[in-house]
Amino acid sequence: MTKTIGIPRAMYFYEFYPVWEAYFKSLGFEILLSPKTNKDILNAGILACVDEACLPVKIFHGHVVFLKDKVDYIFIPRIIGLHKREYNCPKHLGLSDMIKSSIDGLPEIIDPIINLRNKNGVKIAVKDMKNELKLNYSQKELYKNAIREQEKYKKNLLKTDISLKKDEKSSNLLILGHPYNVYDEFINMNILEKLKDEDLNLFFAEDIPEKDYREYSSQFIKRIFWTQGRKLIGSSYYLIDNELIDGIMYLSAFGCGLDSMLVYLVEKKCIEKNIPMIVLTLDEQTGEAGFVTRIDAFLDMMEWRKKDENNLSTFR
Ligand code: SF4
Repeated sequence: MTKTIGIPRAMYFYEFYPVWEAYFKSLGFEILLSPKTNKDILNAGILACVDEACLPVKIFHGHVVFLKDKVDYIFIPRIIGLHKREYNCPKHLGLSDMIKSSIDGLPEIIDPIINLRNKNGVKIAVKDMKNELKLNYSQKELYKNAIREQEKYKKNLLKTDISLKKDEKSSNLLILGHPYNVYDEFINMNILEKLKDEDLNLFFAEDIPEKDYREYSSQFIKRIFWTQGRKLIGSSYYLIDNELIDGIMYLSAFGCGLDSMLVYLVEKKCIEKNIPMIVLTLDEQTGEAGFVTRIDAFLDMMEWRKKDENNLSTFR
């Protein structure tokens, strides 16, 4: 009988779903994806999770609650690191432990260790999956095929030439934040849809080639060792230094430890280069009206500065 594996539509889903989908399908699993985040999922997550967690972790709990009685397994990889000398946020590392200790009645949790800091990382992850899923055959080839799907997906995200997006009339705005804050419409109150009606060219960290954001995030005395941190800092510094953007909108989840440092570094660069920046903090209490007012005021200020008043303060 075909087994069903549940994948929560949260956290790393926004970056790695193509590889997971290709991999589990090639193993013959049926996949059940939780729906887009909604009020019920948020409320279930708040009830299940510890109060101190950041909003994306609470939402992840809600997606697991949705899936738990409908599937044979739930996939919650323990992603320790994706590059040499780099780590992920500790909450990603311990996510499956948090879930197991907070939610009762779970199906089997598949939580292989993915640690690509180690040169045998892929081999170990594949072996871990084999043991956890009790497979009696090697799935190395399947995994390699799945990685190819992921590479295709990443390439499609890159724009051919971002400098083509810059024109004199419209303003260029960088939307910065962890992918689950930028692409989960519920968490950010559908901000991308709201911005679609404005005369703006939108940029994302995913638009910047990896070699460029890595180079631009390597200018600190102490190496940034979070993979996401390197991407967010590197892409914003790249766009600022190449004079490709007129403003930055940073979407930060309440309670995010990494962002307390990353927001500071982006803000410092913006002050230095006189680039307007707004930080929108997302939490379960955020009201849409206040959010929209702040966005409108920021966009107006960006517009005035672009037209003829670049003496206007970008901050405070
Ligand atoms: S990076 Fe921030 S938002 Fe993401 S899991 Fe860690 S603390 Fe939460």
